[in-house]
Amino acid sequence: MTGPDDPHWRWEFRCEDFVYARLADAQAAADEMPPGPARDAESNRIDSLYLIASQHNIWIDLRGQSAGRCRTCSPSAGGVPCLTMTGLARIWRTHPDYQPGWNRAVDQPETGSGSTYREYKTRTTIWTRRAAKLAPFYDRFTLERDRNGEFWKCKTCPARGESWLPPSSLYDHPFAIDQALQQHPTCPALENKEPTTP
Ligand SMILES: [Zn+2]
Ligand SMILES: [Zn+2]
Repeated sequence: MTGPDDPHWRWEFRCEDFVYARLADAQAAADEMPPGPARDAESNRIDSLYLIASQHNIWIDLRGQSAGRCRTCSPSAGGVPCLTMTGLARIWRTHPDYQPGWNRAVDQPETGSGSTYREYKTRTTIWTRRAAKLAPFYDRFTLERDRNGEFWKCKTCPARGESWLPPSSLYDHPFAIDQALQQHPTCPALENKEPTTP
């Protein structure tokens, strides 16, 4: 059992302690501002940061046992401290207590796989990155399953694709979405619709 003399004592909490200390400073400074829209805006900003931070505290049970992960992020997604808490800490990256290693994936992308960095630099949501393929699909098709696997189905006519099951869960690609527009590029039911004559 380690104690406060151990340099690694409570190491996993240092990032959240850092963020909460900076937020407390910011809150104290905001409270000193003259009442008005600038103070309201700053208080609002701090409240939002607290709101985000509160969802990413490392979980500790009633007996004081650390779960070694944040209450929200799975360890594989965020590590300890999680990416959300280290990202919040980065607001104060010039503070002397800031640990450069907290955001290595972003600040030194050459040290890792670079995928976190690339994703974050696109400045887009996951939906934005997928919309080009998904929006045209769901416009005209539904994705369905039967006992033989997943298939596309036209919303307008009875056409459907062949059911396909991935050979393993590691190879889970939605081929039905790729195939729908190739196999059913235009729907006869749509084409045969007579233009309504007045
Ligand atoms: Zn988290
Ligand atoms: Zn059709």
